[in-house]
Amino acid sequence: MPNYICVTCGNQHAESSEPPAHCLICEDERQYVNPKGQTWTTLDEMKGVHHNVITPLEPGLTEILTEPKFGIGQRALLVQTSQGNVLWDCVSLIDDATVEAIEALGGISSLAMSHPHMYASMVEWSHAFGKAPIHLHAANERWVMRPDSVIEFWDGETHRLDQGVTLTCCGGHFRGSTVLLWPEGAEGRGVLLSSDTMHVAKDLRHVSFMYSYPNYIPLSGPVVDSIVKKVAPLKFDRIYSHFSGLVIRVDAKPAVQRSAERYKRAIGS
Ligand SMILES: [Zn+2]
Ligand SMILES: [Zn+2]
Repeated sequence: MPNYICVTCGNQHAESSEPPAHCLICEDERQYVNPKGQTWTTLDEMKGVHHNVITPLEPGLTEILTEPKFGIGQRALLVQTSQGNVLWDCVSLIDDATVEAIEALGGISSLAMSHPHMYASMVEWSHAFGKAPIHLHAANERWVMRPDSVIEFWDGETHRLDQGVTLTCCGGHFRGSTVLLWPEGAEGRGVLLSSDTMHVAKDLRHVSFMYSYPNYIPLSGPVVDSIVKKVAPLKFDRIYSHFSGLVIRVDAKPAVQRSAERYKRAIGS
């Protein structure tokens, strides 16, 4: 039986003979159901239409982006470390060419997802790389559409992976929204992979914080303060968020502080 993939959010669901009746991720107010009606595809159908573009971003960091754009349109990021590679966030498409390209970079030892909008075909990716564990924050458990024994839930504020990167739960967009700190990144000054816990703005000098990006629902001032407080102890100089091209290359930490102040002024908080 196929594992249907929601065309709007890109999440792969548990196997079923017929397409599922609903996509819970899309029916949540942080996403949206396709106004033309809920539509589904499968990995096999995608393979003829889409391909993944693999792009090095800096030494030890590689972007995986599906073309033409699919679902939300996010990138996955592969962090290479001396203790193995970590796939941060995910895309829906995985094919032979992608597996070959990632194997050439050392494969995948662990996967970690920031939040449910990025789960995509994560179980498929894990299975393609020796059933590498997928680390998810327990607060997001109800949003897993394809449960599998490779998924490992962690709880609390931080979780260090064997590969030397650390996950920090910041909340905000989702209660279990997580960021990844890669200390060796940016020539050792530290890289934060923020996904959309902190969304890098188009000016590449600020971030923003939203409960729903597609439906323009902001977060409150106190919640923004709590996100900033969670990343305050982390040492980083660069931030990559979840769309291609979105990076604050230097001085990212003061940029977070400045962005939070600007945001709170804008919402009158
Ligand atoms: Zn969906
Ligand atoms: Zn999101």
